[in-house]
Amino acid sequence: MKNFDIGIIGGGILGTTISYWISNLYDSSVCVIDKESDVAKHTSGRNTGVVHTPFYLDPEKKKIFAKSAYLSRNLWKTLAIQTQSPWMEIGTIEVAIDELQHKTLEKYQKWGIENGVNEDSLLILDSNGLKQKEKNLECYSGLLCKDDVSTDYSKLTQEIKNISRQNSTEFIFQKTVKSFQQKNDSVQINFTDNSSIECKYIINCSGGNSLDIAKQFDLFESYSDLHFRGEYWIADSNYADIVKTNIYSVARHPEFPFLDPHWIKRANGTTEIGPNAVPVPTPETYDGFVTDIQTTISKLGDILTGGAKKLFLNPDFLSLITHEFRSSISKDAMVQRVMNFIPSLEPNYFTKKGTAGIRTPVISPEGNFIPDVLEREGQNSFHIVNYNSPGATGAPAYSALVVKKLQDKGFLKNPKSQKNSLWDFNSIIEQI
Ligand SMILES: Cc1cc2nc3c(=O)[nH]c(=O)nc-3n(C[C@H](O)[C@H](O)[C@H](O)COP(=O)(O)OP(=O)(O)OC[C@H]3O[C@@H](n4cnc5c(N)ncnc54)[C@H](O)[C@@H]3O)c2cc1C
Repeated sequence: MKNFDIGIIGGGILGTTISYWISNLYDSSVCVIDKESDVAKHTSGRNTGVVHTPFYLDPEKKKIFAKSAYLSRNLWKTLAIQTQSPWMEIGTIEVAIDELQHKTLEKYQKWGIENGVNEDSLLILDSNGLKQKEKNLECYSGLLCKDDVSTDYSKLTQEIKNISRQNSTEFIFQKTVKSFQQKNDSVQINFTDNSSIECKYIINCSGGNSLDIAKQFDLFESYSDLHFRGEYWIADSNYADIVKTNIYSVARHPEFPFLDPHWIKRANGTTEIGPNAVPVPTPETYDGFVTDIQTTISKLGDILTGGAKKLFLNPDFLSLITHEFRSSISKDAMVQRVMNFIPSLEPNYFTKKGTAGIRTPVISPEGNFIPDVLEREGQNSFHIVNYNSPGATGAPAYSALVVKKLQDKGFLKNPKSQKNSLWDFNSIIEQI
């Protein structure tokens, strides 16, 4: 059986960046395990591809996501330039359709500055000011954030994998983690093909499966999760440039910001609208399942336990899920929502579906969605759950923070000096 000092479960953007830091700072044997044939095959390669400026994140409730996103933008930029990966400084306009939503934009501007964003990067413009920039945009006002970028997180994760490999990280693909055997000073990881490896310490960043894996260590026992598929529609090329900036709209239900689709300029040159939020039974149900939302909801209600069950008994949530989520499933309804701010669109401009991704929000025992990332330490293990949007943006800084925590607890041995490093660990840690 092969032995490693550190075993990272999950070759998404999080597991891969953590492997980069450990292999860069320590003389330890590190492996990243993934059931797929390469990194970033799930959420990290199936997202909107935006490097988010954290103006819309509450600095108290989403502190880690906000700080990590703020610090990571320039880290990604360095990598993108070095590796000739896509980096399109497109900018985002967050639009308000009435006076009430305008107040939210003012709050976002304040939050952005509290989260470290430069004042000059966050401009509130009235409807006329916006028309000069985007003549097909109709709204009451908008917050223009010049710093937002479109990139390809799959490519960026690949590049980090390559550097991590040069630092001797071993990537073990096509192995599905099934179970664990706790030993005194190590953990045996058992795979579905009946093979095993042994690691002195494991880090669980398995995305939509993280909570289930953490539960195998008797952690987060009364927490639960839900999976929502986010679908996109691609604009026909004749209409792709009627608006040249990313457009987001103020969330009508702030606790479910993913119910309001955006107008997205992708790094590959296409324009898409989306995502919506379709409840699905697993973190990998990319197609099918939902034809009748009522049956879907009752099926989910049957399999849910703990906080998620409570959430499904909450009449407000149920009404939202039946009305809002029902309409989010239809293409026409999605286009209709985007037409609230780009009225010249028509559903027949969108004939092809984009690549769907699945988010897995974690729900507290009381039945509430958890706002920030959650961590727990087990015996010889560390578990990260609820690593949702803007997790791709924040991965370089957040993974440095995780490594710092493990360092402070004495779980990482044999430090080495950081030479020829892509990113500077100490300067990130000083700022976080
Ligand atoms: C629709 C959508 C749009 C988004 N848009 C953005 C955006 O524009 N900008 C942004 O910053 N963030 C965005 N996000 C969030 C971002 O994509 C995620 O926060 C991030 O990708 C999570 O990375 P991860 O490494 O934790 O998870 P993942 O990428 O899901 O990686 C987990 C890995 O674990 C592996 N795994 C799971 N179980 C096992 C097992 N048992 N054995 C072996 N391997 C296993 C999986 O194969 C997978 O590769 C979006 C998310 C969604 C869903």
